[in-house]
Amino acid sequence: MLRLANFIDNQHVPPASGDYLDVFEPATGAAYSSVPLSDGADVGRAADAAQRAFPGWSATPASERSRLLFRLADLIDANLDSLAEAESRDTGKPITLARSVDIPRSATNFRFFAGAVLHGAGEFHETDQPAVGAPLHALNYTLRRPRGVAGLISPWNLPLYLLSWKIAPAVATGNTCIAKPSEVTPLTAHMLGSLVAQAGIPPGVINIVHGDGRSCGSAIVEHPAVPAVSFTGSTGVGRWIASAAGQRLKRVSLELGGKNPFIIFPDADLDAAIATALRAAFTNQGQVCLCGSRLLVHRSVLPRVLDGLLAGVGNLRPGDPSDPATNFGALVSRPHLEKVAGIVDLARSLGATIHCGGRPPASLPARCRGGFFYEPTIISGLDPTCSVERDEIFGPVVTIQPFDTDEEALSLANATDYGLAASVFTSNLSRAHRLAEQLHAGVIWINCWMVRDLRTPFGGMKASGVGREGGAEALRFFTEPRNVCIRI
Ligand code: NAD
Repeated sequence: MLRLANFIDNQHVPPASGDYLDVFEPATGAAYSSVPLSDGADVGRAADAAQRAFPGWSATPASERSRLLFRLADLIDANLDSLAEAESRDTGKPITLARSVDIPRSATNFRFFAGAVLHGAGEFHETDQPAVGAPLHALNYTLRRPRGVAGLISPWNLPLYLLSWKIAPAVATGNTCIAKPSEVTPLTAHMLGSLVAQAGIPPGVINIVHGDGRSCGSAIVEHPAVPAVSFTGSTGVGRWIASAAGQRLKRVSLELGGKNPFIIFPDADLDAAIATALRAAFTNQGQVCLCGSRLLVHRSVLPRVLDGLLAGVGNLRPGDPSDPATNFGALVSRPHLEKVAGIVDLARSLGATIHCGGRPPASLPARCRGGFFYEPTIISGLDPTCSVERDEIFGPVVTIQPFDTDEEALSLANATDYGLAASVFTSNLSRAHRLAEQLHAGVIWINCWMVRDLRTPFGGMKASGVGREGGAEALRFFTEPRNVCIRI
């Protein structure tokens, strides 16, 4: 069994308690590594290291911080094979997906923010209003300074991709950090530690502490040396973090769950809409916060769309994630598989039609018989107000609702507590603009899905989160503005 370690002060160290959790390989269902079950003592040690490193790192010229982060990105590229294998083994995602998306995007995250801190422009305001009594002329410039030790907490679905999306802007802007990956998928974060040291990033700048939410994640959120917490994960945990951080007046960024509508109008390029809807529903076995898990289809084209989806699902073959021919892997854990299967059983009991899937695959390679697999599943016939239609499933399950008018499509799309992403397929430009204006979502795609420009604001409204990541939004989150006003 592989035994992972925390990474503090550029050293791999065991947890103070000596306690570990088993980590399971989703493809086989067997435990294959163990991860530290860290607690407040380990978080305290990481916080001390991060505080010691902060004065030096924040005073390091941006060009030097940038150089080190570019070097880290190069090391991720150089270790693409081993990182992709680890990510696929830990999560159950197809190796081709880890190789083509997760790991390259992690390197891109570091490059993007390493470049961004070199090219930002400052803020300046000239004051020429008369003040009370006498005219006044003043110049204002706004300094942005790193906040200190950032607490960074990420989920299991895109482990290195989402952790690096937080570490990169935090340290590029001069903060030090304590990062905690999901305890379900810790392997690539463990490997990142070695690359951080190899890149020459000073000790204490990037600390990685492993453990569960209860004893490790909460200790990061509550630690007095951590003024800012960036969290990606479920809405329930996000609510707890918002209140714990609120009590302590910490800055928080919360990227939470989604129940994203994918709307197809009859004037759309239907072949493109169907192909994209399939990707939006089933990429990473539906375990992407941006997945289009609610298909809203104009009634006139519903039969054609359904036929196209069923034909496409026939090409998704659940199989061994380590096989480059596999395009559909395992779910991340047994509890998650049981949750997803339970929701499909609920849909069945509510009288839904299960068009495909709705069960584990009938045949799998021998190595994978104990794995956490579930077939891609398409469901229709549910009342749009039921929990299956309104709550996040986060698995390979998509529901379909027909609509007749634009107003009905909009009202179905907005009938959820979430507001992360929405896709609209139409060739009518006015309709596209109108819907983009009225949909409750922070990320809207017209005739596409998952097109990500890292400069754009990323995040959700309502129960999908607070704040935005990406580009200038992330640089602002990790810095404290200080306005300097000079009377002329
Ligand atoms: P989760 O909320 O259970 O866990 C996320 C992280 O928070 C893990 O590292 C976990 O250990 C930690 N955690 C748990 N309890 C904590 C606590 N009390 N204090 C501090 N940390 C705590 O989520 P998950 O099951 O790992 O991930 C799935 C969820 O993440 C889904 O809801 C999905 O939509 C969401 N997600 C959102 C985005 C986005 O950008 N909006 C992206 C990916 C995933």
